[in-house]
Amino acid sequence: MPVADYKTYCKMIDRAKEKHFAYPAINVTSLTTANAVLKGLAESKSDGIIQVSTGGGAFASGSSVKNMALGAISIADHVHRVADHYPIYVALHTDHCQADVLDRFVIPLIDETERRRAASRPNLFNSHMFDGSALPLKENLDISVKLLERCHKNELILEIEAGVVGGEEDGVKAEASAKLYTTPEDTLEVARRFTAVKGARYLLAATFGNVHGVYKPGHVKLKPSILKDCQDAVEKAYGKEARFALVFHGGSGSTLQEIREAVDYGVVKMNIDTDTQYAFTRAIAHHMLKNYDGVLKVDGEVGNKKNYDPRSYLASGEASMAERVKEAVRDLRGEGTTLFKG
Ligand SMILES: [Zn+2]
Repeated sequence: MPVADYKTYCKMIDRAKEKHFAYPAINVTSLTTANAVLKGLAESKSDGIIQVSTGGGAFASGSSVKNMALGAISIADHVHRVADHYPIYVALHTDHCQADVLDRFVIPLIDETERRRAASRPNLFNSHMFDGSALPLKENLDISVKLLERCHKNELILEIEAGVVGGEEDGVKAEASAKLYTTPEDTLEVARRFTAVKGARYLLAATFGNVHGVYKPGHVKLKPSILKDCQDAVEKAYGKEARFALVFHGGSGSTLQEIREAVDYGVVKMNIDTDTQYAFTRAIAHHMLKNYDGVLKVDGEVGNKKNYDPRSYLASGEASMAERVKEAVRDLRGEGTTLFKG
C-alpha cells in the first residue's frame, strides 16, 4: 500500500491506543534496512513506522555529502516508491532532532512537504520528532507549540519529549544528571500547551527510566507505572480524550513484561534501533565467518565472487533484520492488526 496518509496514520494511532497494541518504529539508514522493515511488517500483517535519525540521514546522503535532510528525503522517496508492493500501511517519521539542528533537518523536511502539497503530491514524512528534552520545559514547549502549529497546517504529527532518555544514540549522550523520569506535573503542562492547538495531533515520548543503547539486564530500572501516573493526571485535568499517545524510546533490551506494561499504559509507538542493528550485523558476521576464504583472497587464491558480492550478505542482513521486526511486532501485540484490506 502507499505510505499511510494523514487520516490513516491518525486511525492507526487511535486504534492502537484503544486496543492496547503498538507499532514498532524502526530506524533505517539505507535502502536495504528500509526494505527489511517493510518485509518484516508485511509478513506480520502489521502496519508500522520507518524512521530516520539525523545521523541516519547524513549517512544515507553519502560520506562526501553528509546532508541529513537530503539523505532522509532519499530514504523516504524510496519507501514511497516501493511501499505499494507490500500489503500493509507504513508511516514515515524522523527521529530525535535537537534544537540546534532543527534548521538542517526537520525544517527543510517540512519545507519539502509543503512544496509537495502545493503540487498535490502526498506528504514526504508523516511525523517528525522535536527533542527539546535538554532545554528547560518552558523553552522546549515554546518551540514545540510553534512547530505543532506548522505541522497541524500540513497534516503532520509532532512527537516531543519531556524528560530525558538515558544512554547514547547517534553520538548524542544524555547528561548523567538528566531527568530520567517524567513527572505528572510535566505532562500536565504538555497537555495544557498542546490541547490549546485545536485539532493538532501529537505523540509524547515520556521517560520512565528508559535508556538508549543496550545494557545487560538489571542495569536499567524501568518504571512503566510512571506512564500510568502521568495518564491518570492528564485525564483528571483534561478528560479522557487528552490521554497521550505515548512513545517508548530506548526499548531495546527491555523484557516482554516491561514492554507489555508500557503498552497497557498507552504506548502506541516503540522505537527500535539497537536490536535491529544487531540482527542485521549478526547475519553478515555469520556470512563472513562461514565464507572466510570466499570473501577474502587467501594465499594467492581468488576468493568467491558469489560470497563477496555485497548483495549476498546484505540479503542475509535484510532477512535477519526482518525476523527481528517480526519479533517486535509480536512483543507489541501487533500481529494481524493492519488496517489494509487487500
Ligand atoms: Zn530515542
